[in-house]
Amino acid sequence: MTNKADNVQEQLERLRSLISDYNYQYYVLDDPSVPDSEYDRLYRELTQLENKHPDLITADSPTQRVGAKPDSGFAEVVHELPMLSLDNAMDHDEMVNFNRRVNERLGQSSDIEYVCEPKLDGLAVSLLYEDGLLTRAATRGDGSQGENITLNARTIRSIPLKLRLEKPPKKIEVRGEVFMLKSAFEALNDDAREQGAKVFANPRNAAAGSLRQLDPQITAKRNLSFYAYSMGLVSDDFELAESHFDRLQQIKSLGLPVSDEVKVVKGISECLAYYSDILQRRDSLEYEIDGVVNKVNSIELQERLGFVARAPRWAIAHKFPAQEEVTQLLGVDFQV
Ligand code: NAD
Repeated sequence: MTNKADNVQEQLERLRSLISDYNYQYYVLDDPSVPDSEYDRLYRELTQLENKHPDLITADSPTQRVGAKPDSGFAEVVHELPMLSLDNAMDHDEMVNFNRRVNERLGQSSDIEYVCEPKLDGLAVSLLYEDGLLTRAATRGDGSQGENITLNARTIRSIPLKLRLEKPPKKIEVRGEVFMLKSAFEALNDDAREQGAKVFANPRNAAAGSLRQLDPQITAKRNLSFYAYSMGLVSDDFELAESHFDRLQQIKSLGLPVSDEVKVVKGISECLAYYSDILQRRDSLEYEIDGVVNKVNSIELQERLGFVARAPRWAIAHKFPAQEEVTQLLGVDFQV
């Protein structure tokens, strides 16, 4: 190997090991040591380097998986359909490029219909209903294996234990985000301060720490919320709608909550307008969001676009600019 190749190899190893440590702290311990913007920067550096040297991609690289392995405290759940992550667009130009790629791949020049959704800052869960009853709830984990958190999910009031359908399908998996309202987060931290206990860094950490409690009684006291954003595995006795938006309406009619902010738009300019509007209203929303998720509405087009390693090609998370500072994460004693 030449010196240059040695260098690239070393750089790759350094980034992979750093990112793996950060993943562990974030996903398993719910206790990040760096702000998301720093994590995102390193992740991007690794992806770019791997793109330049595809022969050096290893199966254990953090780019080849979604999150981190489940904690040993919970039983393992294997996701029959993997729970993927989303690609990110960090700015306007990257969003425009995403839309261009979608148009090119589909060989289409007219405006694509997208669904714009708030990117809730919580954690992804899968809810499995069998014959109408909630039989299993799981975290995303590394995308193929998550943790069985059924007892904890049952304590969340907006998650129905039974679907509102006379003839429920044999199986239907609903996916969505468990999160904590800003008000619940503030009340929780106020209590912690009064008791001289550690406070949570942000609602996302509070939600993750609360859902992943081994004692569901603690979760029950934490006031968690849930919004659904997609379906996973569905048995063929359920007739699925042909667009993502209509599927969300189906989810609503099953009795699960979907955010009222979800909108259908046409073309990139309307995606960008939605983004600016919700960014301006961000502080007045009851929950924290860290961006907008844009999804191609037609399921047929989604299927034509398909997936790459860890994310669909038909969706992108357009992230808000970084708000947090390292100092916010340092200097305060956080609770897990
Ligand atoms: P992501 O947060 O970029 O996007 C995917 C997730 O978005 C989904 O899994 C889902 O949980 C969520 N989501 C919210 N609303 C959604 C909607 N309407 N539709 C679909 N999905 C929706 O990806 P990720 O893999 O969950 O997390 C990666 C991010 O986590 C990083 O970009 C970084 O910001 C942060 N992170 C930080 C650290 C750290 O140490 N600070 C470590 C690891 C990850």
